[in-house]
Amino acid sequence: MESQKHFKRSFSFEFFPPRTPESIGKLQTTQEELAKLNPDFFSVTFGAGGSTRDRTFETVQDISEKTGIEAAPHISCMGSLNEEIKVILDNYKNAGIKRVVALRGDLPSGSVGYGQLRYANELVEFIRKETGDHFHIEVAAYPEFHPQAANAQSDLKNFARKIEAGANSAITQYFYNPFAYYRFIDSCEKLGLDVPIVAGIMPIINCTQLLRFSEACGAEIPRWILLRLQEFGDDRASIRAFGIDVTTELCEELLTNGAPGLHFYTMNQSDASVKIWKNLGIDQRDK
Ligand code: FAD
Repeated sequence: MESQKHFKRSFSFEFFPPRTPESIGKLQTTQEELAKLNPDFFSVTFGAGGSTRDRTFETVQDISEKTGIEAAPHISCMGSLNEEIKVILDNYKNAGIKRVVALRGDLPSGSVGYGQLRYANELVEFIRKETGDHFHIEVAAYPEFHPQAANAQSDLKNFARKIEAGANSAITQYFYNPFAYYRFIDSCEKLGLDVPIVAGIMPIINCTQLLRFSEACGAEIPRWILLRLQEFGDDRASIRAFGIDVTTELCEELLTNGAPGLHFYTMNQSDASVKIWKNLGIDQRDK
């Protein structure tokens, strides 16, 4: 973990673009609450094939106008043509956006049309070719490895390609086993990768949803966490309290050992992230 300790810590929150008037209102409240914590940035996800293109852009603009905090759109290449990606990048540039999260993305099952760029390293290369150093580029990292990876070693090499293509920093998939992250960082260090790799944190608030996401993205839920969650049944308050405890301990462990920051997958809710933030005393820490 030594290589990560010299980076300035970064704390950020991720949202998805809301669809209905009700969820738009909910995100407004969430972004206001989280803005009070003065994070380094917010980020907004992007649907495969550009399905949320306009909503991602509108959400990013709304957040930065209303909160004054930097907002970074995610952008994925799967299902989009280079021309379309170029238009998106130009719009972001013209709107003064300086940070993007560059991903391959996933197509919903049954969809066709991969787009021209096959992997995120090609997208990073494309962004650098089209826009030079304008954007700070974040990419995804997988301490427990990507579910489609041929093997751990090739996944690591593929991660390295994204950094070599010009990414500035990375955010990990969420995980609950800190040792997977430490081991991943050590492997990156051995490959000579010198960028901050911020830990992605999923606060536990809903057992069924967590199981569904983890199944899809390959994040492991440790057996002891799963069994305890199942024991709570429909008792949401206990799930929440346990989830906040476990996630706070994980974050504390990661920061103590040199993680260069935390990126919270908020699911457009503020309560759990605010509680964890306050438990950690992040305001008092040297951010
Ligand atoms: P890549 O880095 O391209 O990797 C994908 C797979 O291909 C891996 O198995 C890798 O080993 C392999 N691979 C990579 N490069 C090569 C190569 N050159 N040759 C052969 N194999 C290769 N999804 C969305 O749709 N929208 C979002 O907004 C979004 N935000 C995310 C934010 C974060 C922080 C994270 C961690 C994930 C996010 N995702 C999002 C999910 C992500 O799109 C999926 O995990 C997707 O399956 C992989 O994207 P990637 O950018 O990591 O792909």
